This record gives sequence, C-alpha cells and structure tokens, in this order.
Amino acid sequence: MSIVVCAEQRDGKLRKISFEALSEGKRLAAASGETLKVLVMGSGIAGLADELKKYGADEIAVADNEALASYTIETYAAVLAAYIEQENPALVLMGHSGVGRELAPRAAAKVDCGLVSDCISIEFADGDYTFKHPVYAGKAIGTFKVAGPVRMATLRPNVFPIAESEGAGTVVDFVTEVPPAKVTVTGVNMSGGDRPELTEADIICSGGRGLGGPEAFALIEELADALGAAVGSSRAAVDAGWREHSAQVGQTGKVVSPNLYIACGISGAIQHLAGMGSSKYIVGINKDPEANIFNVADYGVEGDLHKIVPVLAAKLKEELS
Ligand SMILES: Cc1cc2nc3c(=O)[nH]c(=O)nc-3n(C[C@H](O)[C@H](O)[C@H](O)COP(=O)(O)OP(=O)(O)OC[C@H]3O[C@@H](n4cnc5c(N)ncnc54)[C@H](O)[C@@H]3O)c2cc1C
Repeated sequence: MSIVVCAEQRDGKLRKISFEALSEGKRLAAASGETLKVLVMGSGIAGLADELKKYGADEIAVADNEALASYTIETYAAVLAAYIEQENPALVLMGHSGVGRELAPRAAAKVDCGLVSDCISIEFADGDYTFKHPVYAGKAIGTFKVAGPVRMATLRPNVFPIAESEGAGTVVDFVTEVPPAKVTVTGVNMSGGDRPELTEADIICSGGRGLGGPEAFALIEELADALGAAVGSSRAAVDAGWREHSAQVGQTGKVVSPNLYIACGISGAIQHLAGMGSSKYIVGINKDPEANIFNVADYGVEGDLHKIVPVLAAKLKEELS
C-alpha cells in the first residue's frame, strides 16, 4: 500500500503546501511502512519532478497533458481519481487550498472514499490513521477515523513543517484519458500584486472596521510592505466594500496559519478567530482594552491604530532594510 500526495502547482511553480503535504506524507510513511508517491498535474510541468525529488517520495508521477494547462475541476478530478484507482493507496493527502477544497471532495466522491478536510494533525497507530481538525468555528478540535481502504485528507496550510528528505524516487509518466472540460478558462486576473498569497504567507497584517474607512488600508499595506507580508481583512471591512472578499479571513473567508498575524482594529469575533486562531503569534492592535482579540493575542497594543501602525511600519522599515 502507499500514501499518495497530490502536489499543487500554479503557472508551473509548485505551491508551498505541496512541500508541506509531502513532508507530512514522508513522516506518516515512515510510521506506517507505506511507500510514498506524489502526483503532479499540469501542462509542460515535467521539470517539476526534480524539485519534488527533494522530499523523499519513492515515486513521482507526472500527468503532463495540454488539456491540464488550466485548472478545471472536471479534468483534474478525473485524473486524480484515475491515479487513486490505479494505486489504491491507504491515504491521499493534499493542501486545504482553494484548489484542494474543491478537488478533494470531487475526487473522493469519484472513488467513493472518506475525506477529512482542513486537518491540523494526522497520526498513525495500531494500523490506522487518526485525523484532527477544528470544528464549530474553531471552538473544538474533532478527532476522526475513516473507514478504509482509501482515506483522503486535506491539510491546513502552514501547519505541517517542511522537511527535505533523502531517497529521490523514480519519475514516471501518468497517462490517462482527460475528459473535456465543461468550463474553459479564458483568463486569470490575480489580485494582491506582488504580495504573498494569503493562505501561504508567513506574516499577515489584517485590518478591520476599526480602520474607519477604505483609505486607512494604506496603513496596513505600508506595514505589510515593511514585513513582506500579505494583507488580510475582517468580514466587516469586506462587507463595507473596503476590501475584496479574497482578503477575508475567517469562517466564511480564508483559513490562515501564519507565523505572525497582526490584527489592526479587529475585535476578534469568534468567526474571525476561526480563520486565524491557529497562527503561531498573534498581535492585536485595538483601542478597546476589553476587545476579544486580546484574549488570544500573544502581544497586545492598546491604542489608536492610526497613531500606532505608521510608527510601527516606519520602525520596522528602518530595522529590516
Ligand atoms: C455566519 C457568520 C460568518 C461570519 N464569518 C466571518 C468571517 O469569515 N470573518 C470575519 O472577520 N467575520 C465574520 N463574521 C462577522 C463577525 O461576527 C464580526 O462581525 C466581524 O468579524 C467584525 O469585524 P471587525 O472586528 O472588523 O469589526 P468590529 O467587531 O466592529 O470591531 C472593530 C474593532 O476595532 C476597534 N477600533 C475602532 N477604532 C479603532 C482605532 N482607531 N484604533 C484601534 N482599534 C479601533 C474597536 O475597538 C473594535 O474592537 C461572520 C458572522 C457570521 C454570523
């Protein structure tokens, strides 16, 4: 039996979550004695195998096909399901990214296997896997088992450590019929400019209703630029039209786990915490000493963000340049 990792690439570049999933797959394979295989899908991506070799997979399967040039759910789910049917693995891992959130359930339904989403821990003991993921907007952690033979899990980004590993595996072509896509991608406009993608960022600076208006997001951007961070937002700021929904962190937005999350003018509602509560270090900047964000913050700064954030950004720029 094997563990299969579905690696994710965008524009020919492997996403960080692929290395996290591979490293976790390697750790679990060592515990369970399974072999580790990785599948990467796309067009003109044969070169990615070299990079994947650094993480100790026994086999790297490359599904390189022009029909996979753009991600569409029908094509990618069909290829992943065909690979799972061929390999009949004990476990399939992929990132809980925008793609993984859509691809995993579709592929799981195709191969009729159980899926645990947004895992923050997976352990192997007594011949079976145990999965943990936050439930009830992060208020509790649920523990799950999946009736085999195939189990699937998506991994919360930035939670599982990346570890390079010896034992570069063989590279094989995975050739299968790709069904025609019902939806054709005619163009992609990326928002966020040169800043890191929110779910992959090591540092996130977020703004909420306390900013007072859309123009004050310039302060958050300045702070983010000083730190090389991504910019996030609370739902209140998104609902007010100050920021795109793609920046929303929380229960109905993105789930993030950066090393550092700086919440500026965000009260810390439970639905916001559901999206960022697993961040390693949380800094809250809020003028209300009773704000809930201070209950989860490692460092709290009480005061007016309009005064604090520019000083912090200038000091960081000076220190880090
Ligand atoms: C089903 C459901 C799903 C939801 N999903 C999400 C979600 O995904 N993400 C999310 O964020 N919310 C979500 N919410 C909304 C959530 O309940 C809160 O309403 C929202 O998070 C509040 O955003 P906020 O903290 O920016 O605003 P507020 O709660 O209004 O807080 C603003 C904060 O700014 C502080 N402040 C004001 N002025 C200043 C200043 N000058 N300097 C410093 N601090 C200042 C205030 O003290 C206050 O603490 C959801 C709600 C529901 C019901």
